Amino acid sequence: MEKTRAMYNDLDSILYTRDELAAAVKQLGQQITKDYQGKKPVLICILKGASVFFVDLIREIDLPLEIDFMAVSSYGASTKSSGEVKMVKDLDRSILGRDVIVVEDIVDSGMTLSFLKRTLLGRGASSLRIATLLDKPARRRVELTVDYSCFEIPDAFVVGYGLDYNETYRNLPDIGVLSPRIYANEN
Ligand code: 5GP
Repeated sequence: MEKTRAMYNDLDSILYTRDELAAAVKQLGQQITKDYQGKKPVLICILKGASVFFVDLIREIDLPLEIDFMAVSSYGASTKSSGEVKMVKDLDRSILGRDVIVVEDIVDSGMTLSFLKRTLLGRGASSLRIATLLDKPARRRVELTVDYSCFEIPDAFVVGYGLDYNETYRNLPDIGVLSPRIYANEN
């Protein structure tokens, strides 16, 4: 842990270090490589939270692949989901007939991914799987199959490795639990 970074003072604990994250991402990359032999999947990064995970993951996949980016918003500047999902940036290319892997930072209520799954399957993807770094199954509000998940975590608000609070902390190399005093004044 880099104690010199002031952002670490805002964390209650470190959940996963950069080494643990790298090992899990490598293992997931190997699994996807095995599962998609002979195929050329399109990996879709859900901005912005999944960006750090995404760039690490694609380099651990030993297959020809394509990438694309989508942005949705449901949280705003809060630690609680509004339950509404809005598309902010769409894909650049068609996914008709393609094997799609949606790469997400964290599945919480499941609202974001169930919206994305419906939208992308409606565009004629021939297959669609979900790969998430973190999963909070205790918070699920809709039924959703998560195909690949690196870690299941308890119900806590986490930041780092791409995940933010109010756009800060994305550049922390580790993932930690944000101290509730940081968002105590939220209504
Ligand atoms: P869902 O639609 O599954 O409720 O929420 C998914 C989105 O909520 C994630 O992509 C992420 O942006 C945000 N989110 C959910 N839990 C957390 C968390 O613990 N920390 C952060 N930073 N974002 C979260």
